[in-house]
Amino acid sequence: MTTLEHCQQLDQNDPLRSLREQFELPPGLIYLDGNSLGVLPRATAARVAQVVTEEWGQGLIRSWNKAGWFDMPQRLGDRIAGLIGAGPAEVVATDSTSINLYKVLSAALLIGRHEHPTRLRVISERSNFPTDLYIAEGLCNEHGGTLTLLEADELQAALAPESAHDVAVLLLTHVNYRTGAMHDMAALTAAAHRAGVLTVWDLAHSAGALPVDLKGAGADFAVGCGYKYLNGGPGAPAFVWVHPQHAERFWQPLAGWWGHAAPFAFTPDYKPAPGIGRYLCGTQPILSLSALACGLDTFSAAEPMGGMVALRQKSLALSDLFIELVAQRCAGQGLTLVTPLAHAQRGSQVCLARADGAFAIMQALIARGVIGDFRAGDGGRHPDILRFGLTPLYTGFADVWQAVEHLRQVLASGEWQRPEFNRQQAVT
Ligand SMILES: *Cc1c(COP(=O)(O)O)cnc(C)c1O
Repeated sequence: MTTLEHCQQLDQNDPLRSLREQFELPPGLIYLDGNSLGVLPRATAARVAQVVTEEWGQGLIRSWNKAGWFDMPQRLGDRIAGLIGAGPAEVVATDSTSINLYKVLSAALLIGRHEHPTRLRVISERSNFPTDLYIAEGLCNEHGGTLTLLEADELQAALAPESAHDVAVLLLTHVNYRTGAMHDMAALTAAAHRAGVLTVWDLAHSAGALPVDLKGAGADFAVGCGYKYLNGGPGAPAFVWVHPQHAERFWQPLAGWWGHAAPFAFTPDYKPAPGIGRYLCGTQPILSLSALACGLDTFSAAEPMGGMVALRQKSLALSDLFIELVAQRCAGQGLTLVTPLAHAQRGSQVCLARADGAFAIMQALIARGVIGDFRAGDGGRHPDILRFGLTPLYTGFADVWQAVEHLRQVLASGEWQRPEFNRQQAVT
């Protein structure tokens, strides 16, 4: 049996322990939902207030130049690039993940169509995040293409050159939002390229959670989220990366004045900015970008301690501990581990399936101050899931022990069956 004392010892010996001090964590709360909304960094409130009162209030229009507002998407993009294996001037922080996905998937479809007019199919995973599938469906309608949805274990076969001759794009989320299962980005990208297929990767559950190597994997396009592991705040700007070999091949469809080569020339015709700059559309939300910058600062503090590699090591230790404690303490309670055991296939969350009661169990945990979330199943291959996100910047080993102890008590006592835990809510 793994004891609380042992976990407290692990926290004492954790070289990343001090990183937690950068966050405003409500006392007594065990927050295991940083994969849905990251925690508020301590620096953010004062920084945003300063941007409001000084840069906006006093500086007014001058702040576009003087406070560096104008090139914030590029500056933040360069910092995100360091977390995802991209180069300088290859990433911009802008718009939402959904909108960025629209841009890159359009560009990928245009490239595919230009080079191979018969390639009109997009392949994705049935359990991909819905917005990714909806955007793909809409674009396929627009381009006269089709969207094929597969299970993860069907992807390699579908990418065999003889099956993929009509496929333009492979669109995948690196780490599955429901299960925490991670794809082998390098292997799938290589298989796609052998079949003449371009790849679009959604990094919503991997950027800031584990080391990503877009260039190393030879990926073509990527998007990712600012408000999950990057701690940028609710609705924070997302980011977009395009491999330099593709960046200037096409306009993205939301060509706007911020993506113009000379926005202040105000010419009536569009001339795209060089490189990733053309993936900007219109005026950017400076207050939100300022908050995102504070989120990125929390990673800079981890740099001297080993950066993403050290964070990944801790994340795996946390999820290993979670899995081990559930096996030890919640055996016979109908929980099934959905997250892969193999480290190479695991993101930064632990997901547990249960045939019934998963929603109410999570509500009972939240009432006890253990915040994870619930994701509904489809009544078939994908069951209802309890999701626990582990964010190594601020989650400790004793937090994991306490969370599993609460889960044990909620299950053993039948507390979750109380009526107040069975009322549906808008956001689960
Ligand atoms: C969270 C998430 C998104 C969110 O997209 P928004 O445009 O920010 O709503 C998109 N894709 C995946 C895979 C996600 O996990």
